[in-house]
Amino acid sequence: MSSKMTSCIFCKIIKGDIPSFKLWDSEKTFAFLDINPLSLGHALVIPKHHGAKLHDIPDDSLHEVLSVAKKIAIASGAADYNILQNNGRLAHQEVDHVHFHFIPKPNQKEGLGIEWPQQ
Ligand code: 5GP
Repeated sequence: MSSKMTSCIFCKIIKGDIPSFKLWDSEKTFAFLDINPLSLGHALVIPKHHGAKLHDIPDDSLHEVLSVAKKIAIASGAADYNILQNNGRLAHQEVDHVHFHFIPKPNQKEGLGIEWPQQ
């Protein structure tokens, strides 16, 4: 395991060493609620493969991450939402482990945070 992985906060969340509100946990993908949500239901969907930027992640992991983001979007009940993925400091990336934000738009409380996807 590389030193970047052992120090990575999201790798620690995947391992359960740092607690999170888990929404999804499969072979290649993990999803959890953002600790500092921009709206109710703000979630992060991440590949288990450690990589800082989009181009560091194998295609099969990226495919599954987007599929899980779609499941979470459907399960949230949000009609309007953003999927956002930042790469590098100039692009406002704070955590160097690829993550897709799922950000439901405000004022859509029905369904949000109630029925997250079942596996
Ligand atoms: P970025 O700016 O890198 O795209 O977004 C990083 C996101 O990770 C932020 O929205 C931040 O709130 C979230 N975050 C950072 N540390 C933690 C943590 O320990 N737990 C959770 N659940 N979210 C975190």
